[in-house]
Amino acid sequence: MSTTTFTRTPSTTARSAQEVAALLEDPGFGRVFTDHMVTIAWTEAEGWHDAALVPYAAIPMDPAVNVLHYGQAIFEGLKAYRLPDGSIATFRPEANARRFQRSAARLAMPGLPAELFLGALEALVQQDSAYVPDDPEKSLYLRPFMFSTEVGLGVRPANSYLFVLIASPAGAYFSGGVHPVSVWLSTEYVRAAPGGTGEAKCAGNYAASLMAQAQAAAQDCDQVVWLDAHEHRWVEEMGGMNLYFVYGTGENARIVTPELSGALLPGITRDSLLTLAKDLGFGAEEGRISIEEWREGNASGELTEVFACGTAAVITPVGTVKSAEHSWTVGEGTSGEVTMRLRQALLDIQTGRAEDAHHWRHTLVEA
Ligand SMILES: *Cc1c(COP(=O)(O)O)cnc(C)c1O
Repeated sequence: MSTTTFTRTPSTTARSAQEVAALLEDPGFGRVFTDHMVTIAWTEAEGWHDAALVPYAAIPMDPAVNVLHYGQAIFEGLKAYRLPDGSIATFRPEANARRFQRSAARLAMPGLPAELFLGALEALVQQDSAYVPDDPEKSLYLRPFMFSTEVGLGVRPANSYLFVLIASPAGAYFSGGVHPVSVWLSTEYVRAAPGGTGEAKCAGNYAASLMAQAQAAAQDCDQVVWLDAHEHRWVEEMGGMNLYFVYGTGENARIVTPELSGALLPGITRDSLLTLAKDLGFGAEEGRISIEEWREGNASGELTEVFACGTAAVITPVGTVKSAEHSWTVGEGTSGEVTMRLRQALLDIQTGRAEDAHHWRHTLVEA
């Protein structure tokens, strides 16, 4: 447990146990928030200071605050689960803390020490533990973020920042079980280029992705698949998730994920699956996959399944692919066997239903 002390100001208008229970019936995703939040301020003069657990509330802003004009804003996303023994744990939060520091560095923002990042998670989840559902299909989604707070229109890194942690109970990301999604291959728009901000979890990457997502929807597709910025040929990611390609079947299956080219977001789910797949006896590697290889491998039957992965939706099968020139069904168009095995194995570790051989779980609240 962290040694940092957070001043605590409990809310006087917190929801009753009955109100929380009603919310947890069908929380959706990112719609409702818990009674508290954590804030930590940074200034050039004082560094990180004023770590505080406070009632969830609006953050008043000057219209000239730097973030509204030049977009120094980064975030993270992780989930807390209630385990069968009653304790509450999250998954590999040290990796999120490190990635938050790398995102900050890319946007010329100060790095938050991992101890403060983890301390914030513990403080908020302890306070609002009633919001962690007692159901392995549900979780408390944790959203740490940081933005510049300096007032002024000068273009340079701001001299003050605010870190905030909020939490939102989450149901199944896709209601009604796991369904294969349809994807649109975007050749018109790119998400990121090497040297850009694609490796950072920054707010602006999402703003830049919305138009392509709208184009995918106009093509009757659920999600957009990003290709490399240079040749528009190499597969990179799907929406806000990483991708995996499954070759072969059964015992001989091998999974391949696009290598980190400098434009991909290094997902913690992606990284965990490289290890977990090997634990299950599958081959697992990073590589380059072109759209021709995807189409031809699918046609020959060599490529059997494709899935996307990330914290929010865990693992989601890809069922159909569409581009300006071609469209095809991935395998049978259903949720593949390897995909579903990996999904269950990962969820079992995250929710405390399986042994945690790699020490990925991190207890936030003792049983
Ligand atoms: C957050 C994110 C992911 C998934 O990362 P996880 O650590 O697995 O949640 C993948 N791609 C993008 C663009 C993301 O923002």
